[in-house]
Amino acid sequence: MLAHVESACLVGMEAAQVHVEVNLAKGLPYFSIVGLPDAYVREAKDRVVAAIRNSGFEFPSRRVTVNLAPADLKKEGAFFDLAIAIGILRASEAITITRWPRCIWLGELALDGTIRRIRGALPLARSLSQKGLKEMVLPTANAEDVSFLRKIKVRPFTHLKEVARWLTGELESPDVVSRPWKPVERPEGTDLAEIKGQAAGKRALEIAAAGGHNILMMGCPGSGKSLLAQALPTVMPAWSLEEALDASQVHSLSGSLRSSGLLDSRPFRSPHHTVSSAALIGGGDHPTPGEISLAHRGVLFLDELPEFKRDALEALRQPLEEGQVHIRRVRGRATYPSECLLVAAMNPCPCGYRGHPKRECVCPSHRVQKYLAKVSGPFLDRIDLQVEIPALKVEELFAEETSPEPSEFVRARVERARALQADRYQDNGAGRRTNASLRGRELKRYCGLTEEGKNLLKSAVERLGLSARAFDRIRKVARTIADMEGAENIQASHIAEAIQYRALDKKPAAY
Ligand SMILES: [Zn+2]
Repeated sequence: MLAHVESACLVGMEAAQVHVEVNLAKGLPYFSIVGLPDAYVREAKDRVVAAIRNSGFEFPSRRVTVNLAPADLKKEGAFFDLAIAIGILRASEAITITRWPRCIWLGELALDGTIRRIRGALPLARSLSQKGLKEMVLPTANAEDVSFLRKIKVRPFTHLKEVARWLTGELESPDVVSRPWKPVERPEGTDLAEIKGQAAGKRALEIAAAGGHNILMMGCPGSGKSLLAQALPTVMPAWSLEEALDASQVHSLSGSLRSSGLLDSRPFRSPHHTVSSAALIGGGDHPTPGEISLAHRGVLFLDELPEFKRDALEALRQPLEEGQVHIRRVRGRATYPSECLLVAAMNPCPCGYRGHPKRECVCPSHRVQKYLAKVSGPFLDRIDLQVEIPALKVEELFAEETSPEPSEFVRARVERARALQADRYQDNGAGRRTNASLRGRELKRYCGLTEEGKNLLKSAVERLGLSARAFDRIRKVARTIADMEGAENIQASHIAEAIQYRALDKKPAAY
């Protein structure tokens, strides 16, 4: 007797369909799983045998062969337990099946037959739905994760026994209650109104959010860099369902999604500087997404930037540039998304007080240069905005600002600038959404300069010794500043402001 059951597993964020074939043959009782299973899939044998018996069914005393196809796809994880068990029940005719819907079966089995939560249910369901599949069986514990998907019917079950009774027609399947989408009204993070002074820093944050630009803040300890970084999510555009799904599916995969469904505001990840490059960009024998992917559609905050390991920063370059991470595997590779805003912070020197109005810096100049050099070069080239955050003077600390601008006002302006960009790039074909994501020729097309602007930029390049990359960065930032004003063309004033955001390019000459 032969039975076919459809299941699936994840390759990166993509679902790959897996055909589960169960064959029963005469001979001494034996149970084998073939088709490139990993250790965890091989152990499905023990789980499936126990789950079938403990659900009150007989396990066939025949030769049971389970084949997972396609053969060249490495099968990982506990996605297939349920499909294998159902295949065995069908092939052995242990139950009289009256309905056999065309659906994808996913679920891990506990020894008592309970269907356990699986990792990555959201990306699996979303990807299967995008491939046109209409129906799937999932563990009830995963039902909330997928309750926002509209195009795929999900049948949630908690026990193998229930599934069997559904197939025999004794029971109707429960439904997933689909829920309306509602993000939190006030995103997590520091409101700009709570931050004293720092007008230039706030302006730079607004530009970063408006154009999707990475930003580096340099300032003494206590100048408020971390507070400003934490304010970034509060000025980014409102959190949409599509973005929430994009971000949540990465968290679903890493197993960190709370049981209440989707992330209700933008992720803000701030790994410690001792983080390994694998934890930062993802990897491992069973690949899991790293911090940069967990920050997808949100913010990745690297405090004390020069303290990060050099190889970790190097590893970030390509994902920052491409918006996705490729992790090489024994067979093929896994790809995870990594479109996040990078906000980094650093001191101006090892002791932290260079340029402080009151305190003395004790660093010899060669140590300052070495410190700054840690983040120079190719990594710095990925950062469009580099700003100095001056220490607040005592008067500023005690000054009562008459009406500090709250984040929601800034967010409204950011959304207008983003809407202009979305309009401009909708026919681009390359999937660009922000000024920061423009590449090569697109820059020429969308960031044209006036004669005056060109001259200004040319003299700045000569004076500051800027690289070709810095030259491009300035044009993109100027495009964003123009968008914030609603200006169609980039004016000299926009270029002039954008040049101000190259604090580190200017630094070496000052020592
Ligand atoms: Zn110092």
